[in-house]
Amino acid sequence: MVSIKQQLVPTRSLTSGVGNLCNYITIHETANTAKGANAQSHANLQSKGNSRLASWHYQVDDKEIIQSFLDNVQCWHAGDGQGKGNMESIGIEICVNSDGNFKNAVQNAAELVKQLMEKHNIPINNVVQHNRWSGKDCPHNLRDGSKGIHWGDFIGLVKGSTGIHIPPKPEVGSEIISKPKNKSIDQLADEVIAGKHGSGADRKKSLGSQYDAVQKLVNEKLLGTKSKPKPAEKSIDTLVKETLAGKHGNGEARKKSLGKNYQAVQDVINGNTSTPKKPSKPKGDQKTNSIVDYLKSIKADSSFANRKKLATKHGIKNYSGTPAQNTQLLKKLRG
Ligand SMILES: [Zn+2]
Repeated sequence: MVSIKQQLVPTRSLTSGVGNLCNYITIHETANTAKGANAQSHANLQSKGNSRLASWHYQVDDKEIIQSFLDNVQCWHAGDGQGKGNMESIGIEICVNSDGNFKNAVQNAAELVKQLMEKHNIPINNVVQHNRWSGKDCPHNLRDGSKGIHWGDFIGLVKGSTGIHIPPKPEVGSEIISKPKNKSIDQLADEVIAGKHGSGADRKKSLGSQYDAVQKLVNEKLLGTKSKPKPAEKSIDTLVKETLAGKHGNGEARKKSLGKNYQAVQDVINGNTSTPKKPSKPKGDQKTNSIVDYLKSIKADSSFANRKKLATKHGIKNYSGTPAQNTQLLKKLRG
């Protein structure tokens, strides 16, 4: 708070004398924009006897507050003759000299108003513009806000609720430009699959540092490499071999072990199907022309009775053991 300097005018000839009830505070601007037209120069103007028929209690610039008349003096500043402006209010002139800082001058005026309100128990609604009393466009700059601070801002300063209103700077990146929220790799992968990030170099550029991680997940999603590959189904042939080797047990245990393949495996084992049969290598003696020697070589029964049985099985009728029948049977048995 800038302290109040007193430079009281010795004569009250340009006033109505004492008797001010101090019910109001009236705000003015000097309207003198000349350099050096500050509080001191206006105080001096009053001290040496104002050339105009006018007087006011305080003048305020950006650096100081100077009091010219005691608050109880009825000064001539409101243009309302014997009205409440002149008779019941304290007049404050805010300097608008071009070499001063208007906003700081307004701030000092607000501080002064606060003090006076407290001192004389004046309500905020009784802090008024010169315009209120005479219709003059005063305080001009506060009324039109042309210097970036409005009457409302001034009242705000007096109330202490706000500072001087300065137009907010655009907040780049927070409100005007909303930053995209960080997306998860999973979201980005889904977007890639949906085609939102293009392909090749475009996709690389779009995803930036997350490209590798996203691409890996995309591949997993598309190719299913994330899930464990299913164990390759064993062929019936393999299962038959395993079953014969005792790996699937017997009876119910085998049924359970082979599951849906049980019947197929059993069919092969029982010889009910020919599919898994591989061309078997010729067995036994392949050179001999003797059926008996051949049967012996495969450790089979070479008796006439068995030969007749085999012959009948292979469609040789009326087997009697003739050389032709033997040759025919040998051929059949060798496959
Ligand atoms: Zn005025």
